[in-house]
Amino acid sequence: MLELLFLLLPVAAAYGYIMGKNSAKNQAHEQNRIITSEYSKGLKYLLDREEDQGLEHLIKLLEVSADTVEHYLTLASLFRKRGELDRAIKIHELLLKQPALEHADLAVNRLELALDYIMAGMLDSAEEHLVILIKSEHKEAIDPMLSLYSQMREWQKGINMFEAHRNLVTRPQQLATIANYYCEAGIESENMELIERAFRLKYKAMRPLYELGKQAFIQKDFVKSIYYWRELATFKPVTVPLFIEDLESSYKSLNLEEQFDELIEELLCQGGVLIRIKYCEVLVKNGEVEKAILFLTASLKREPSIRGFSFLLQLLGEKQGNMTEVLAQIDKLVKSYIATKHEYQCQHCGFSSHTLYWLCPSCKHWETILPSKGLDGY
Ligand SMILES: [Zn+2]
Repeated sequence: MLELLFLLLPVAAAYGYIMGKNSAKNQAHEQNRIITSEYSKGLKYLLDREEDQGLEHLIKLLEVSADTVEHYLTLASLFRKRGELDRAIKIHELLLKQPALEHADLAVNRLELALDYIMAGMLDSAEEHLVILIKSEHKEAIDPMLSLYSQMREWQKGINMFEAHRNLVTRPQQLATIANYYCEAGIESENMELIERAFRLKYKAMRPLYELGKQAFIQKDFVKSIYYWRELATFKPVTVPLFIEDLESSYKSLNLEEQFDELIEELLCQGGVLIRIKYCEVLVKNGEVEKAILFLTASLKREPSIRGFSFLLQLLGEKQGNMTEVLAQIDKLVKSYIATKHEYQCQHCGFSSHTLYWLCPSCKHWETILPSKGLDGY
C-alpha cells in the first residue's frame, strides 16, 4: 500500500495547485472542492487500509474530471503488477465509459484493459477489445493479439487478421509468428498450400522450409526435400541437426551422394560439430581415417564438444583394432552422458528440452528453440 500512497501524493499536490489557480472562477472552485473532498476521503481510506472504499472514492473523481486519466492508468497498472486484476479491470472499465476521454487515451486504456483480461484468463473479452484496436489501425495491439491467438491456438483467426492488416504486422518476431500460424493451420488441415503461403512471405522464416522439406521427404519427393532443406541449411546452419540424416538419405535415394558431400564441405565453416562429424564420415568413406582424426582433434581443441569427442573415439577404434573394446566402453559412457543432456534450447529465454517446440512453452516466442550449442550441444 505504501507505493500507492507514494503515487497519490503528487496527485494531491496537483489538485491543490489547480484549485489555487482556478479560485477566481466559482464553478471551477466548486468542482475542485468536490475533487478535493472525494480525494481526501479516498486517501483517508487508503491510509486506514480500507482499500475498497478508498478506491471507490478515488474512482468517483473521474466522473468529475477526465484530467486524471494518466494517474488512473498508473494506479491500474500498479494494481495489475500486484496481481490485483479485479481492481485494474474496474478502473480500466470505468475509464472506458468516460465521455470526456480523448481518442488517444481511450486507445491506451482499451489496450491496458485487454492486457488485464489476458492476465485474468478472460481471453474472449481481451480479443473483443484488441479487434476494435486493430480495426482502427493500432499497431500496439498486434503483439498482444498474436500472443492471444497463440495461446488460443486460433491460427486461422491470426491469418485472417494478418491478411486484412498486413501494414500493421512488420516486426520480424510478428512475421515469424504469422509464418508459424500458416504452418500450424496447414498441418492441422493437411493443406500444404497454407505452408507454401508462409514460404512466399517476404519474411524468411525457418519453419515453412523445414515443414515443406519434411512433407516432400515423407512423400518421397526427394528433389523437393533437397531443395527446401538445402535452402534452410544455408540460411540457418544451426538447424542442420533437425534434418541432416533425412537430407543425406534424400541425396542417397537419388544417387547424388557426391553432391551431399559437397554441401557438407560448403557448410563446414559455418556449421556446428554435426557438420564436422559428417565431414569426417566423408573422409573415412574416401579411406582417409588419419586425416579425419587430425581434423577432428584440431577442431575439438578450438571448440570442445562431447559429441565430437564421442566420434573421435569411434575413429580411434577404427584405426587401432586391438583397443576397440576399451574405446567402445568409453564411448558408451560418453553416449549415455549425452543422452542426459537436452538437445534443444530457446535462444530467447534459455528454456531447454528433449523435444523440439516451434513455440517456446516458457517465453512464448516462435522459432527461438534451436538445437543446443556449446560443449554438450551440436
Ligand atoms: Zn523461450
